[in-house]
Amino acid sequence: MASKLMVVIPCYNEEEVLPETSKRLVKKMADLEKKGLITPDSRVLLVNDGSRDRTWEMICELHKENPLFEGVKLSRNRGHQNALLAGLMTAKGRCDVSISMDADLQDDMDAMDRFLEKYEEGCDIVYGVRNKRDTDTFFKRETALMFYRLMKALGVDITFNHADYRLMSNRALEALSQIEEVNLFLRGLAPLVGFQSDVVYYDRSERFAGESKYPFKKMLAFAIDGITSFSVKPLRLITTVGLVIFVVSLLMLLYALISWITGNAVLGWTSTLASIWMIGGIQLLCMGVIGEYIGKIYNETKRRPRFIIERYLNDRGDDPVVDKR
Ligand code: UDP
Ligand code: MG
Repeated sequence: MASKLMVVIPCYNEEEVLPETSKRLVKKMADLEKKGLITPDSRVLLVNDGSRDRTWEMICELHKENPLFEGVKLSRNRGHQNALLAGLMTAKGRCDVSISMDADLQDDMDAMDRFLEKYEEGCDIVYGVRNKRDTDTFFKRETALMFYRLMKALGVDITFNHADYRLMSNRALEALSQIEEVNLFLRGLAPLVGFQSDVVYYDRSERFAGESKYPFKKMLAFAIDGITSFSVKPLRLITTVGLVIFVVSLLMLLYALISWITGNAVLGWTSTLASIWMIGGIQLLCMGVIGEYIGKIYNETKRRPRFIIERYLNDRGDDPVVDKR
């Protein structure tokens, strides 16, 4: 049975890729409709994340030319995860099923057929997983792998090599909307939603044009966010380190006392200096980790909206008010 699909695409300064992306989407959506997987009133929702180039103007033009395209304009740049959530929350209640993907054509559109087939088989969430990462640089590939391993070691339920190319049913979107955290890491939240899920493998290609909006600094911040939003193990690690150091300090005390008794006390300037620096460093590091979590609590308690929608372009005259939290 055909279902109403909404493809959600966050766009930040994507004027170089949008013409090609939209062209391919028109074709893809027509194909899917012909195959009987989606209904004719399915839509592509382009979320403009406060772009500084002509992205929003282009979205307006696309919408005017073809009602297939809808546009959401955020009031400012809020980052990939918030923009994606804004799109998904707009899609919630307006479709049977949503698929999120990037604007840059890195996610193979032909995987959408398989996503939808899995949905028909009863899955509420389908994760797109990259087959291989040979289009990424060596550095990005290795750091990403390290990140996934670390997440697993910290006990976080995360799908290896899954970015945000994902199918979510309306039911899963409803459940997602009930998770109210401000520190967003959507690929970790989807497994929390639960329901029947599956993975679809696809080849990730290179960015069609333009450059990555994820420089190393943002990637690192994203990784730290991911870890501290889903695991308190680093805090426990600090306790363990503290415990070990305490035991070592007891031994040191014993050693110092024995040295004093046997009369060799003045020596040992090097070891004193070294231990002061070591302990100081470890303490600062631990305080930093604790600070990360306190910062998270601080942000969550403010309960600020995760995104603000300025406009919602659609052919039904829906107003832009959607679930913000
Ligand atoms: N993006 C966004 N807001 C941002 C940064 C990125 O909406 O602040 C969008 C971007 O337009 C793209 C997607 O997020 O559709 C993924 O970004 P990108 O392709 O640059 O990341 P990479 O694939 O290099 O990890
Ligand atoms: Mg990309």
